[in-house]
Amino acid sequence: MPKIILSKFFDYFGRIQERLLVYMLQNLGQRSLKNLQRDAIKAAQVQQNVLMDILKLQKNTEYGRRFNFAVIKTVANFQSVHPLSTYENYRYIIDNIASQGNFAQLVSEPIMIFQETSGTSGKFKLIPTTKRLFSNFQKAFQITRAIGEPYYLNQKAYKTEYRGLALFSIRPLSFTASGVPQGSLTAGGLTQSKFIENLIRLRYTSPPCIFLISNYRSACYCHLLFGLLRSDITYITANFALKVLEAMQTLERLWPRLVNDIEYGRIDESLELDTSIREKLQSLLKPNPALANALRTEFEKGFNGILTRIWSQLSYIECITTGSMHIYKESLRFYAGDIPFYSPGYGATESFIGVNLEPERDPPSYVITPRVAFFEFIPVSEVDKDMPNTINLTSLSIGESYEIVVTTVAGLYRYRLGDVVKCVGYYHKSPIVEFLYRQGSLLSLYSERVTENTIFVALTEAIKLLGNDCKLVDYTTRLEISSRPWRYVIYAEISKTFEDLLNLKLCQDKIEQVICDLNEAYMEIRNENRIGPIEIKLVQKDTFEMLKNIIIFKGTSDSQFKMSRLVKDSNQVEFLETRSYAFTK
Ligand code: AMP
Repeated sequence: MPKIILSKFFDYFGRIQERLLVYMLQNLGQRSLKNLQRDAIKAAQVQQNVLMDILKLQKNTEYGRRFNFAVIKTVANFQSVHPLSTYENYRYIIDNIASQGNFAQLVSEPIMIFQETSGTSGKFKLIPTTKRLFSNFQKAFQITRAIGEPYYLNQKAYKTEYRGLALFSIRPLSFTASGVPQGSLTAGGLTQSKFIENLIRLRYTSPPCIFLISNYRSACYCHLLFGLLRSDITYITANFALKVLEAMQTLERLWPRLVNDIEYGRIDESLELDTSIREKLQSLLKPNPALANALRTEFEKGFNGILTRIWSQLSYIECITTGSMHIYKESLRFYAGDIPFYSPGYGATESFIGVNLEPERDPPSYVITPRVAFFEFIPVSEVDKDMPNTINLTSLSIGESYEIVVTTVAGLYRYRLGDVVKCVGYYHKSPIVEFLYRQGSLLSLYSERVTENTIFVALTEAIKLLGNDCKLVDYTTRLEISSRPWRYVIYAEISKTFEDLLNLKLCQDKIEQVICDLNEAYMEIRNENRIGPIEIKLVQKDTFEMLKNIIIFKGTSDSQFKMSRLVKDSNQVEFLETRSYAFTK
């Protein structure tokens, strides 16, 4: 009897603790949001303070002494002393710290972790991440929570219990020669923090150990399995739209196995899992034939709009849907029906950049958070100059496009991020931007600068000519400069088998026409026959899935993966060529 009372007491106490944690998180989110509002009102001042604080913080590092940070007193002074930079300016120092230690060459506080970039449009980079940089990411994350949850969940659900299906998996950390952890920030957090573990238990349907499964396919299966066990899922969250799409495709393919696991309370034998994780998960499963039957009935009806049929409280899907992720939104619609997507934030490994404060705005846009870094912007007309001018955060013109330059709290100064954004408005004094493209994905043979968005629009229009049931699965491009005439090559995977050469010619003509309409410079060089007609090569089914696996096998993290829209790697080109249908020649 006393044992039962004791266990009830702990149960009750546990629930109070949970409520407190939820309350605390919601408060933190609201506070971060209010801080952003305050910062945006006096964005110019905040930016100046941020820069001066960074210079003060780093003035005694070897790097800070080299540029004499100690005597810099104004933004203009800093800009005249320090040139614009790229990763190549830091590669040597960072490699040196990674191999020999001595972080004070670059930063004044220890490096918690070297984060890896996805390497989508270039060489893989290691980004030194300090406590301050980490804290900036955390605050930004809290703001996105404070926006999405109350907006999409009705107040009742928001205040009481609700759960999300989180589709993350973490690669185990490795260590550099000097002993600094290397990998993703979340991996560092999850393996070291009880707090994060508790948070996961409270917020998500998957037990924490699932996030540590390094094989993404197995992790995805387990997320789905534990998600299907609950009917109270109110949101799905992942970094990128591609991850949600992959999970939906996994559900569609593997539902018979998932339903069997639910029926018998077991975990599929064929999954690649560490024994300890398998045992932990197995201990949490019980046979549930009634739920298995109900799910089977729904899956047998098909997958159109499946999400709300299995999770009736599902209110939104949180994942980045802009930039290279835009293409996957339409395929996701099939599974998601009317469920809205919330694209919460915009950032890079080097620095967080902006939050989406207006969930309903389409295309999604992001308010630049003035306290996370010192921002400058290169007008797009100047990006190819040797020494382009930069504009400060509060002086962007609405409707104009700019490349983002950041000075961070963790050792990067006037660093060209390579992303081009368009200013679409202001939140108080802080610009609201739409993501346009990465410099590295621009198609340009004679400075015509055709963007990935232009190609995407052209391809989408062209593919309509192949029938309503034909969808674009994925695509990439290449510049052909080894034979004349120079030209663009587009590799596209579509959702149906296609054998009609005549229609393909119509597609090519349509693509040409749309690109000419959207890009005058391209039209000119085509009219002058300086470049040849675009060549479209249709590739076989699953080519892009295979290409993704090849890239991930070489070291890109699965959860950060973004398909490059301009391939340069000769092995990848060769692979795409071998997968192209011969009739396109
Ligand atoms: P990584 O540092 O490898 O994780 O990649 C960061 C890059 O991902 C950014 O520089 C952008 O090009 C892209 N990215 C991140 N967030 C967004 C977003 N919300 N919309 C479009 N692209 C994004």
